[in-house]
Amino acid sequence: MTTNADAAARARAVIPGGVNSPVRAFGSVGGTPLSIVAARGATVTDVEGTEYVDLVGSWGPALLGHAHPDVVAAVQEAAARGLSFGASTPAEAELAEVVIDRLTVAGTRGIERLRLVSTGTEATMTAIRVARAATARDLVVKFAGHYHGHSDGLLAEAGSGLATFALPGSAGVPPEIAALTLVLPYNDLDAVRAAFAQHPGRIAAVIVEAVGANAGVLAPDPSFNRDLAGLVHEHGALLILDEVLTGFRVGPAGRWGLEAAGLVGETGWTPDIVTFGKVIGGGMPLAALGGRAGILDLLAPAGPVYQAGTLSGNPLAVAAGLATLRNATPDVYARVDAAAEVVATALHEALAAAGVTHVIPRAGSLFSVAFRSDAVRDYADARDQEAWRYPPFFHAMREAGVSLPPSVFEAWFLSAAHDEPALDRILAALPAAASAAASA
Ligand code: PMP
Repeated sequence: MTTNADAAARARAVIPGGVNSPVRAFGSVGGTPLSIVAARGATVTDVEGTEYVDLVGSWGPALLGHAHPDVVAAVQEAAARGLSFGASTPAEAELAEVVIDRLTVAGTRGIERLRLVSTGTEATMTAIRVARAATARDLVVKFAGHYHGHSDGLLAEAGSGLATFALPGSAGVPPEIAALTLVLPYNDLDAVRAAFAQHPGRIAAVIVEAVGANAGVLAPDPSFNRDLAGLVHEHGALLILDEVLTGFRVGPAGRWGLEAAGLVGETGWTPDIVTFGKVIGGGMPLAALGGRAGILDLLAPAGPVYQAGTLSGNPLAVAAGLATLRNATPDVYARVDAAAEVVATALHEALAAAGVTHVIPRAGSLFSVAFRSDAVRDYADARDQEAWRYPPFFHAMREAGVSLPPSVFEAWFLSAAHDEPALDRILAALPAAASAAASA
């Protein structure tokens, strides 16, 4: 039998660090990384044949659970008609219509145009280029602990992966490029005001995760997104709302949709560009950026901003996205929210019973754990915790058949497939894991 250790050793000989995305190496929790061969519903199965209840969810796309039959069927059907055409398809326009329709909330149109790309990184990278073209300005503001993909200008203090490996940014980014990005503390509007005052007429855009979820969960203060939008617009800049992780996951129209509907946060604000990824492709490589026609039509060939992709709007990915959104009904969101409530509550109870100091940063179905006593509002808070309690907690959960994100700086992802048996397995595993965290 091939073991996870065999698989990791084989990969390390031919793939840098043995992985194609750093967090998969289990750098911060140690131990042998899982090598997965199958995933279905709420579970993943490793190369040894061990099945785990999965709380990674492919880092977000698996809203319906893994390998939802309708999504798999849609991909199979699309594959039978051809894998990639390098030309337009009817389905990509249909997907754009579906997304634009979803982003019309309480009479407000969030976006009027949608450009499909393949990764969240491309979506945010292109959004920044469009914002610079639209404003003829050069600087970009991001928040510490927010991750927007791995393009050069957006890697400063970018949370999860970098936090896991204790890197402030990435080698290979020229200082001249890094200098065009201003990094500010999250949930701090005074810092944003000060940046606009210090760089008059130079800030093209502020990019923000709709809910911070890449340094553990960093929930926005209730009026933060609205007030940020107001401030950005007052200074002639654009607001890029990064919903790669939250879009179609925290609600049918993402975090903005929840705010526009008056369910959380504040109504009465609209971002200029919104980026999507993860759920929009239902597990296939698909992402997008949307916005008003006047802004998105700056993209070539309608306008002067160049962006392209051999596999953009790939028919298999679009089929998976359409099938996923079709199945992402209000009932699905209710189930995901309820499952998150069950797990977050049990996590709190288990840690409290074991006497482990903790908080559970949370925004709707997104939550994480932080081993500290005070609420987590920004990246400095997220890093100021007893992070060493997480590895023994993680490994105890794994022993009990639950696959958690292999870093304390990641959110836990529930799905509509986390039914009662799956939740019971998680709940049964928590007390021993909490004890392991207590004795760390
Ligand atoms: N933005 C956010 C908020 C993300 O969470 C991520 C990925 N975790 C990205 C952008 C980048 O997406 P991708 O990994 O598809 O490039």
